[in-house]
Amino acid sequence: MTEHVNTELPAYHEPSSSFAKEIELEPGGSGIMHCIQCGMCTASCMVANMTDRYRPRKLIQKILLGKREEVLTSELPWLCMTCRLCEERCQEDVDPTDIFTAVREIAAREGYIPAVFQNAIDKVLEDGWMLNDSYTDFEEDDRSDLGLDADLGWNTEFVKKIKKRYFKGGIEV
Ligand code: SF4
Ligand code: SF4
Repeated sequence: MTEHVNTELPAYHEPSSSFAKEIELEPGGSGIMHCIQCGMCTASCMVANMTDRYRPRKLIQKILLGKREEVLTSELPWLCMTCRLCEERCQEDVDPTDIFTAVREIAAREGYIPAVFQNAIDKVLEDGWMLNDSYTDFEEDDRSDLGLDADLGWNTEFVKKIKKRYFKGGIEV
C-alpha cells in the first residue's frame, strides 16, 4: 500500500500573535505573515554585520511570537539603516525595513523613543541642525575657503513651523 503524502502546503505561515496582526495592519507591515525565518535578511544586513545584538530575523520572530512590549521598548528596531538590502534579498517578499518602521511608529506613539533619538530630535528642534556641536571654527574656515557663507544662518522659522505642526498639537501650518 502506498503511503499518502500531503503535498498541499499552506501558502504562508499564519501566526496567531495579535502583535503580528497589529503590525500587518500598519503601513508597510503587510508582508510579515510571509516570513519563513530563513535568515537571509540577517545574512545581508550591514548593521548585523557590525553588532551581534542586531538580528532582523530574530526581531521579526519576536513580533510573530507576540513579544509586543519587548519589541516596542527595545532600541534594536531603531538601528535599522533602511538600506533595504534585506528587502532586495528576501525570497518571500517580506520587507523588514518597513516592518521596523511600523514598529517605530507604534513605539513612538506609545512614548518609547530611545533617548539617543529623542535627543537628536530635540537638537534639530532647538537650532535646526543636529550636528551643531560639531560645527567648529575649522568648518567656518573651510566654508570661507570654498566661497560659502561661514554663517550657517539657522532657519528658525522652519524650526518653529515643524514644532507647531508635529509637536504642538499637530496644527498644519
Ligand atoms: S529573509 Fe525574509 S523570509 Fe527570511 S527571515 Fe528575513 S524576512 Fe523572513
Ligand atoms: S534595511 Fe535595516 S534590517 Fe534591512 S539590511 Fe538594511 S539595516 Fe538591515
